[in-house]
Amino acid sequence: MTRQLVIGNWKMHGSIGKVRSVLPELARAKLGPNVAVCIPYPYVMLAKSLLKDSQVQVGAQDVSEYHVGAYTGAVSASMLADIGCELVIVGHSERRRYFGESSENAARKLRACLDAGLFPVYCVGEDAEERASGRHKEIIAAELAVLRGLPIGLYAVAYEPSWAVGTGVIATSEQIAEMHAFIKETLEPRTRVLYGGSVKGSNAEEVLAVDGVDGVLVGGAALSASEFLDICMAAR
Ligand code: PEP
Repeated sequence: MTRQLVIGNWKMHGSIGKVRSVLPELARAKLGPNVAVCIPYPYVMLAKSLLKDSQVQVGAQDVSEYHVGAYTGAVSASMLADIGCELVIVGHSERRRYFGESSENAARKLRACLDAGLFPVYCVGEDAEERASGRHKEIIAAELAVLRGLPIGLYAVAYEPSWAVGTGVIATSEQIAEMHAFIKETLEPRTRVLYGGSVKGSNAEEVLAVDGVDGVLVGGAALSASEFLDICMAAR
């Protein structure tokens, strides 16, 4: 069985000092290639050099859907591959909410990643109102529809209900199991599905023990080396 993935998402946090304090601790912990940190673009090359003797992978949190050209401010998948990035988060709920990204945009980004040999992690999730009105499966199905025809195994899906992202409110084990089963039924049973939303050192073991959970996507708790290491240790 492949080991459960633990992917940290630093979001727009950090500094050279922070990267220099957290990543060497991860390197010293002798983690496997099932662990990755997605940090802000400016620190990717520094992260690669700090993790050069480690198997921890380095990723980005977004990418352009375009390959090359006059797209001021954008960063292409081939540029990320060029500087040693191995994976990219696409369609995160914060990209959808604050930058108006649609599932179609995210699917184009996902394809750009595949073309560049990067491993994309495609995020889906309902908001609080959609969950309260019982429309969560309908919302996820619509977000997954854009993946039709893409090769299973070359990407992962992260189930991240936005009401659980950065809120301290974690989905219940039943909700996680139900939604992971739904995503695998909708796509393919072999699809790797991660859970994200307020995962911490104290609840990681419980989340990672839920049926159908192939790993976790971790936001806030990824900024602390000790907290993140506790989560990595809970991965089976
Ligand atoms: C995330 O940013 O993908 C996330 C899950 O954040 P947090 O762990 O802080 O809820």
